[in-house]
Amino acid sequence: MSLEARGAVVTGGGRGIGAAVARSLAEAGASVVVCARTEREIEVIADELSSAGKRAWAVPCDVTDPKSVRAMAEAALKRLESVDILVNSAGMAFSAPVHKMTLQDWNRLLAVNATGTFLCTQALLPGMVERKWGRVINIASVAAKSGAKYISGYAASKHAVLGFTRSVAEEVAASGITVNAVCPGYVDTEMTRESLERIVASTGLSYEEALAAILDTTPQKRLITPEEVAAAVVWLCGDSAGGVNGQPIVMDGGGLRA
Ligand code: NAD
Repeated sequence: MSLEARGAVVTGGGRGIGAAVARSLAEAGASVVVCARTEREIEVIADELSSAGKRAWAVPCDVTDPKSVRAMAEAALKRLESVDILVNSAGMAFSAPVHKMTLQDWNRLLAVNATGTFLCTQALLPGMVERKWGRVINIASVAAKSGAKYISGYAASKHAVLGFTRSVAEEVAASGITVNAVCPGYVDTEMTRESLERIVASTGLSYEEALAAILDTTPQKRLITPEEVAAAVVWLCGDSAGGVNGQPIVMDGGGLRA
């Protein structure tokens, strides 16, 4: 798969899934702008890629802030000339029983996961429409297609991402652009490690016991790797996946079969 001559923006690119996506897109030949709020994290990834001879830049951005997103889109255009690929991976997790979730928790989840995806897509889609080629890939979650106790806010925000994905996919279908979502189960990243630490703090289980309890709910008894998610993203970016549009690509080892 060659993505030579493609310019890509990856939000949440400083670590976890976003970092793996940035590496895989660069490996496939794309020029990559890596975004997140934490400047140090994105600089490490951009430096790593540049040192390996890839074209990569770090551009700080808070995806919940329209001004910051506009500035990021302008900076990305200057570096890349065209933004052909947008991967919305910036996100946050939060779990609590619904009666303990504050309005602030709820608003923050929707702002980062749903509004962030909307703002970045809105900022970068017009250029794709103009050039009649583009790929928007939203890193949603199996929680975009199912619910579970204690994740009502997170699941609501990811359902919003999937509804947005499906709708924009139809809007731009005739413009050479596809908009899809990758929906992983538990992935081996800092986000999952932080969730496990919260389980440890609230239940008294050891970290290993908490991990074993989570793995027990997965069909393959393992965490998905960030590289597996990145491989799906790279595939969706290729011309051979041009007919795949508005789809949630579920990657959870077979738990969700709908
Ligand atoms: P992570 O916590 O390791 O990384 C998240 C990234 O998003 C970080 O770089 C962080 O700085 C960035 N970010 C957070 N808020 C931001 C903001 N307001 N503006 C800009 N950047 C911001 O998480 P991850 O595991 O790599 O998750 C990436 C995406 O995949 C998220 O949307 C998450 O919901 C989703 N996901 C994760 C899992 C999992 O088990 N880890 C499973 C399914 C879906």
